[in-house]
Amino acid sequence: MKRRQVCLAAALLLAVFALPGCRTAFHAAPLPIQPGGITQVATIDALLAGVYDGHMSLATLKQYGDFGIGTFEGLDGEMILLDGVFYKVRADGKVYLPDLTEKTPFASVTGFEPDIEAAIEKPLDMQAFVELVDGLFPRQNSFCAILVRGDFTRMRTRSVPMQQKPYPPLAEVTKNQPVFDFENISGVLVGFRSPDFVKGVNVPGYHIHFLADDLSGGGHVLNFELKKGLLKMDTDHGWLNIHLPAQSEAFAESDLSSDRSHELESVEKER
Ligand code: ZN
Repeated sequence: MKRRQVCLAAALLLAVFALPGCRTAFHAAPLPIQPGGITQVATIDALLAGVYDGHMSLATLKQYGDFGIGTFEGLDGEMILLDGVFYKVRADGKVYLPDLTEKTPFASVTGFEPDIEAAIEKPLDMQAFVELVDGLFPRQNSFCAILVRGDFTRMRTRSVPMQQKPYPPLAEVTKNQPVFDFENISGVLVGFRSPDFVKGVNVPGYHIHFLADDLSGGGHVLNFELKKGLLKMDTDHGWLNIHLPAQSEAFAESDLSSDRSHELESVEKER
């Protein structure tokens, strides 16, 4: 190649790279949903401490999973993410479809790909259900995403009322939580069994939300009796991806040094 041709080629190359439109070629494309792991927003202890500001939009969260649970900015209800659709069960007990611009202070999601299925043909209470899942997937140091489509003879859920600043700790909020009782209702359980080692970061053990098929209700599950249903479990989780609210003053200033296990127990379980 002659010197002049080399110069021309170099100039063309520069021109191409200098075109504003060409820069998009170097931008990262939106992440596809990645199965095989869990993505979570912030930590459960930050939520217990009252860090209710939203850190991630639902639109962004959706890029990490089509299945999961959590809550909304200001603690405005219980989140269910099912088949890529977000549902919000507010303190009035009603189910809303939140805008994707809404944000979450705490959520866990995954790309749900079940590898274990079991038909449930005889009635199970919550304890018997836990024993069934533990029996099907005894590896307690691994995450397990759990989905059940079924008919429930009884279902008890709760939601949480939206909070105003200064935010009280979660254990204060749940002292006045609205509890909802349903009888003979069809719906979906969505949740996770997490290993004990996530203490402080997520909820060790079972954390499950419910959504009625007819969208007449749902929430954070306190207790149930399952008549029959189909259980699906995704047990293949090789990583945990945690998005920390590094820019949040409230997060930076919250005391995350203490053991909040008792607070978590009072917040998550039926009293
Ligand atoms: Zn919950």
